[in-house]
Amino acid sequence: MSAAGSGGDAPKKAFPHVDLEGHDLPPSPAPSSPHAGRRYNIATELVYTEGSDQYNASSVPIYQSATFKQTSGGGGGEYDYTRSGNPTRTHLERHLAKIMSAQRALVVSSGMAALDVITRMLRPGDEVVTGDDLYGGTHRLLKYLSTNGGIIVHHVDTTVPEKVREVLTSKTAMVLLETPTNPLIKIVDIPQIATAAHEANPNCVVSVDNTMMSPLLLNPLELGADIVYESGTKYLSGHHDLMAGVIAVNDAGLGDKLYFTINSSGCGLSPFDSWLLMRGVKTLKVRMDQQQTNAQRIADFLETHGFKVRYPGLRSHPQYELHHSMARGSGAVLSFETGDVGVSERIVESAKLWAISVSFGCVNSLISMPCRMSHASIDAKTRAERAMPEDLIRLCVGIEDVDDLIDDLQRALVQAGAVNVTLDDFQANPSS
Ligand code: PLP
Repeated sequence: MSAAGSGGDAPKKAFPHVDLEGHDLPPSPAPSSPHAGRRYNIATELVYTEGSDQYNASSVPIYQSATFKQTSGGGGGEYDYTRSGNPTRTHLERHLAKIMSAQRALVVSSGMAALDVITRMLRPGDEVVTGDDLYGGTHRLLKYLSTNGGIIVHHVDTTVPEKVREVLTSKTAMVLLETPTNPLIKIVDIPQIATAAHEANPNCVVSVDNTMMSPLLLNPLELGADIVYESGTKYLSGHHDLMAGVIAVNDAGLGDKLYFTINSSGCGLSPFDSWLLMRGVKTLKVRMDQQQTNAQRIADFLETHGFKVRYPGLRSHPQYELHHSMARGSGAVLSFETGDVGVSERIVESAKLWAISVSFGCVNSLISMPCRMSHASIDAKTRAERAMPEDLIRLCVGIEDVDDLIDDLQRALVQAGAVNVTLDDFQANPSS
């Protein structure tokens, strides 16, 4: 915040707003920390804020202003320019820091902007170790950095810690993990890999993309990660009505570095989107609880009908124990194979309640073929090398009535010829 919008050598402003845990965070119109210093359960923390708003607004006001008048020629205001800081954004950042068990959270214009900010800490010659089953956009940004930025990127199967160890060296500046991976739903052992990375290079920054789990289900910072980031476009907001990215850290120096890049590049989240994300995050628990319950029923349904289903809530998942040793739930994204690309296409196109869409984390259910959609930016050869089944269907389960979702899916399966029964047979005995 002290590097004011006008930049340059603006006088360093003091922010005496030390919170209850002693963090010197930027000021907020509503401190978003419990009055008595007590920590409540996450369902309570998600909705609980305290305000110092002059009218006691229950919802944080939207400070839709690019600049803020100063009290003297030398500055003196808590805020001066929205690229550098905005009260609505700060309120959200402090709320998210609390929820993510982080010392500091920063919000930016998208999940990819978050990764862009994080990877700007890299220098030519630095090495990055990451997975071979990554979100397509992450893969694209890393490819760009290796082609244009002199960064050496090692894609390995991060679900096998030995494979990660083989490429870790003192030059490994960053380890970038996703768990469960998307769309193959493979699980990564965060504590083991974080320890190995820090042993190889104590300055290595272990970053975890927590978009699939959300802070409700997983806290990578508590498992040894240095940075956790998420696409706020997904579960955190929950309604597909905004794009946002969130970065959270416990190391104050790291937080300052990331903030410097955000202020320099101007990717901080707009006041209106900050307000929308603040509104969305309050219902994270009720949404996710319903989505997970629905996802489990749908995974069981598909598995019962003989499909190869990938979902951490299924006992058949080869890393079931590992996932549940780290996370508090299974999430609401699953994928399954049909054995035939044409059949998969017909299923996707026959479903009515399941919208054909990239993304996930929304209250309504989505269906997609990752190789054709979200992961199409990974070329076909690389997809084949990484054993990504072209017929894979990804389901992102929403909060609808689960019987309606199953009914719609079974109609699509029958219409596509994916199951060898008529709809009447199916409905007479759905679990046959
Ligand atoms: N990480 C994961 C796992 C994602 O699925 C996505 C987007 O789908 C992103 C990051 C990027 O987020 P955004 O679309 O908000 O830039």
